[in-house]
Amino acid sequence: MSVAPGPQPDPAALPVVETFHSLQGEGLHAGRSAFFIRLAGCSVGCSWCDTKHSWAAAAHPRQEVTALASEAEQAASAGAAFVVVTGGEPLHHNLTPLCVALAPLGLPLHLETSGVDALSGQFDWITLSPKAHRPPADALLGGCQELKVVIHDEPDLSFAAAMARRAELLGNRPALLLQPGWQSARGEALAVAFVRRQPRWRLSLQSHKWLSIR
Ligand code: SF4
Repeated sequence: MSVAPGPQPDPAALPVVETFHSLQGEGLHAGRSAFFIRLAGCSVGCSWCDTKHSWAAAAHPRQEVTALASEAEQAASAGAAFVVVTGGEPLHHNLTPLCVALAPLGLPLHLETSGVDALSGQFDWITLSPKAHRPPADALLGGCQELKVVIHDEPDLSFAAAMARRAELLGNRPALLLQPGWQSARGEALAVAFVRRQPRWRLSLQSHKWLSIR
């Protein structure tokens, strides 16, 4: 006997933790004015996650993608240079309706993802932050513009190098960044030493946390 599927969530409305206009704090676009859409829902379960409040999608209200696009338009008039879709894990959701709603604004669309799901939507810049316990899909590794690996301990360095090799095998040469875990003295020391030896890599710091801005 087949079980009838339950009601499907409306992809034109997404669970949203918060939206805000700030500066991109990390990665290659750090320091630039951006409008952030933080979607709720994540099953990846990183122990050091700093947005655990985003994990339960049902705990956050759903917003229409058209309303999110209106907010992005206001942020653009106030100086935002691009939109960042982050989470949570944004690709747990179908992002096509959101990208369609945002496209008329003409702002570059950036995505921050762990890469565990299939890509949906159309983005100008994909930051892939892969996790060793849930490795990313090849499609994301082969299509990201930025590979950013969080470093706490020695094995994270080998994982970062393996991810870069895999991306290259897939025909991709993204920007390569190591980001020490927040307040991880060991992560900082390892990342700095690694980047000093490896000219293709650069350091990414969570500058928004140092500045106490979000
Ligand atoms: Fe947190 Fe991101 Fe890991 Fe999800 S993928 S648990 S949001 S760090």
